[in-house]
Amino acid sequence: DVALSDSEKEGKYGKLLVVTVATKETDAFRRYMDSAEAFGINVKVVGMDQEWKGGDIEHGPGGGFKINLLREAVAQYKDDEDLVIMFTDSYDVLFLADADEMLRKFKAYQINLLFSAETYIWPEKSLANKYPKVENGYPYLCSGLYMGYAPYIYKALSYKPIEDIADDQLFFTELYLAERHKWNIKLDNPAVIFQNINGARADITLRFEGGNNLLHNTKYNTVPCVLHGNGPTKVYLNHLGNYLPNKWTFDGGCQNCDLDTFDLQGLPVEDYPSVVIAIFVGVPTPFFAEFLDLLTKLNYPKNKIDIFIHNRAMFHYHMLEKFREEKGPLYNSIKIILPAEMLGDAKGRNRGVDHCMSMECDYYFSVDSDVQLTNPDVLRLLMETNKQIVAPVVSKRGKLWSNFWGDLNSQGYYARSEDYVDLVRRNRRGVWNVPYINNVYLAKGEMVKTYKPNFEIEDLDTDMAICMDLRSKGIFLYVVNMEDSYGHIVTLDNYETTHLHNDMWELWNNKEDWEAKYLSPDYFVVKEMDRNNITMPCTDVYTFPLMSRTWAKELIEEMEHFGEWSGGGNQDKRLNGGYENVPTRDIHMNQIGFEQHWLYFLREYVVPICENVYPGYYSKAYAIMNFVVRYKPDEQASLRPHHDSSTYTINVALNERETDYEGGGARFIRYNCSVVGLPVGYSIMHPGRLTHYHEGLPTTNGTRYIMVSFIDP
Ligand code: UDP
Repeated sequence: DVALSDSEKEGKYGKLLVVTVATKETDAFRRYMDSAEAFGINVKVVGMDQEWKGGDIEHGPGGGFKINLLREAVAQYKDDEDLVIMFTDSYDVLFLADADEMLRKFKAYQINLLFSAETYIWPEKSLANKYPKVENGYPYLCSGLYMGYAPYIYKALSYKPIEDIADDQLFFTELYLAERHKWNIKLDNPAVIFQNINGARADITLRFEGGNNLLHNTKYNTVPCVLHGNGPTKVYLNHLGNYLPNKWTFDGGCQNCDLDTFDLQGLPVEDYPSVVIAIFVGVPTPFFAEFLDLLTKLNYPKNKIDIFIHNRAMFHYHMLEKFREEKGPLYNSIKIILPAEMLGDAKGRNRGVDHCMSMECDYYFSVDSDVQLTNPDVLRLLMETNKQIVAPVVSKRGKLWSNFWGDLNSQGYYARSEDYVDLVRRNRRGVWNVPYINNVYLAKGEMVKTYKPNFEIEDLDTDMAICMDLRSKGIFLYVVNMEDSYGHIVTLDNYETTHLHNDMWELWNNKEDWEAKYLSPDYFVVKEMDRNNITMPCTDVYTFPLMSRTWAKELIEEMEHFGEWSGGGNQDKRLNGGYENVPTRDIHMNQIGFEQHWLYFLREYVVPICENVYPGYYSKAYAIMNFVVRYKPDEQASLRPHHDSSTYTINVALNERETDYEGGGARFIRYNCSVVGLPVGYSIMHPGRLTHYHEGLPTTNGTRYIMVSFIDP
C-alpha cells in the first residue's frame, strides 16, 4: 500500500531506499524522521496507524510483525539488482550520515547483506558458539538495522514464514548462521555504518567540533552512520538525540528550538488556550503567600484558567481559603481538595488529571508549592515550545538541585548526565529530552486526554511513577532552559511551623527568598554606597534602609503574639546579673527562638555597613542584647539618658510616626541632636558609649516599636 518507488534516489554510490516500520506517530518517530530529513534521506514508512501485532518487545521476544509488513512492502523491488534497501527501527534510531556515505561504506564491504552487530546475544543465548570468532568488533547480530541489495533483502525476508509475535532477531540470526557464506552476509562488527548502543556505551563519545557534532566509536575508531538505542539504552539515546544530528552545537547553540514553535502573543487574548493550573501542596511550605502571589501574577488571562488545588497540609488551610475567597472569583473556576479528604499524593494528582479530562483544558499546568515562578511569562513560554509535556528548568538557588534528571541509573533513579551541570547553569540553552521531570510542568490537554498520565504505580513515588508512565507510553519529557530564569525551588527541610510568621525563621534554609521578603529593597544599594553618601543626621550617627515593611509588621505581630513583655523594672531574670540599669518594656530575640538567626543576620547584613561607616573597626557582630522595645504613654513612654553596653548599636524603626504613634525618637545629648520619625525598616547605627550618651524621647500617643541590638559589648 506504500508507493515506495518515489524514494529511490540515485547518488554517487547508487540508489538507496530506506524503509522503516512505525505504527504510531510518536515523539520518537518524529525525531527519527527529523534526523532523516537532516540528511536528505527519504524514508518509506510501513504500518502507520495499524495495530502493533509484534508482541511485547520491551519485555521479551517479538517483532516478527515487522518482517511480515516489510516483505510485502519491498516485494515490488525484488528484481532491482542496483537498488540497496536499508531497514531501520524507528522509535530508537537516529541517522548521522547521508545516503552516499552509507552506500560508500556498504559497497566497500562487497557483500549482499549487512546486519548491525551488538555486544549481547539475544534472544537465543545457546547460539553463541555457532557465531564466527570476531577479532575486531561486536560479535552478535542485531535486527534493528540492516541493509542489502534489494533481491537479497526480499529473499531474506521470505526465506521462511514467521509469525507476527515470533522474534525477528532470531529469524535473521538463524539465516545468518546458516547462509552467511552462501549468500555473502556479514555483520558490521566494528560499527562502520551501524552503531547499537546496548553494551557499547563506553565505546562511543559525542565529539563537538565547533558547528558540527560527531559520534565517534573510539574502540574501533569508526564514525557510524546510524545509531540505535536498542534495549535499555533508550534514555541514553534520548540524551544523544539532544545533540545529534547537530541539534545543539558549540558554535550555534540550539539549532531546533524554533522548530514547530508558535507565537502565542500574536493571538487576541480571548483566543488564548484554556489551562487547568493544578497546584499540589504536600507539606507546610515556606514563602507560600509569595507562591500564591506569583501565580496570580502570571501574564495570562485569568478567565482562561481553572484552578485545581490538592492541599494535604492543614497548615495552609486558612491561607488557601483566603485565596479562594479573594482570588477565586477572578478565575474561570477554582476547586480545592482539602486535607481532610486524606486522598494521598498519587490519588490527588490523578484527580488533577481527571479534572483536566472533565473540561476543555487545552493545557494542564502542574505546579508544586515549592516552586516560585518568578518569571510571569513562564506559562506562555512553555506553551510556545509546542511539546506534549515540558518543564521549565528551575533549581534551588545557588545549588545544582533541580527539577529534572539528565540520566537514569540501572534502578531507574537519578544519574548525572555529562551535560547536567551545563543545563542547570544555562551554559547550554535549548529544549532537552530528559528521562525525569518534576515540580512544575506543562502538558497538552490532548496528551492528557489520550494517555491519561498515571501517578499511581505500585509503591513508586508519584514523580517516579508519572515519568515512568509517560516514558513507557512513548512520550518524550522535555525541559527548557532558554530563559535566564523561570523561577526557583524553595527548600522544604527544617521549616519551623510553631511561630506566627514562620518564614522569618527561613534565613538559613532559603536565604534569597528571605532576603527578598525581609530585607529593605534598598539594602543592597546602600551596602555598596560610598560612606559619604549615607545619611548622617547627627555626628557619627547613620541612618539607612535595612529591613522591609513586611519584616517590621511581622516582627511586631510575632512579639505581640508571644506577649511576654518585660515588666520594665530593674530586676530582670533574663539577664546574667539579674539586674537591668536602664530597663525598657521589651522581648528578647532569644525568647522567641530567633537569637541565632539574628546573630547570623548581624554578621551577614549589618557588619558590612558598620565597617563602611566606621572604617578601621572590625566588628565581631557579637550581641547578647537583641530585643524589641514597646513604648506607649500609659506603660513606658521614654528612656532616660544612658550608654548602651555596646561598641555600636542598631535601632530599627518598626512602625510609623503619625500613623501609629506620636512623639518618640532618639536624642544624642552631647550633640543636642535627635533622630525622629525614621521610616519603617530604617535603622540608626551609632556608637554605644562615651560620646553617644542618649535618651529615648517620649512617645505621646499610640504605640511605638523599635528593634535594638547592642553589638560587640
Ligand atoms: N514498533 C512500532 N510500533 C510499536 C512497537 C514497535 O512500529 O508499537 C516498531 C518501531 O520501528 C520500533 C521497532 O518496532 O523502533 C522496534 O521496537 P523498539 O525500538 O521498542 O525495540 P528494540 O529496538 O528495543 O528491540
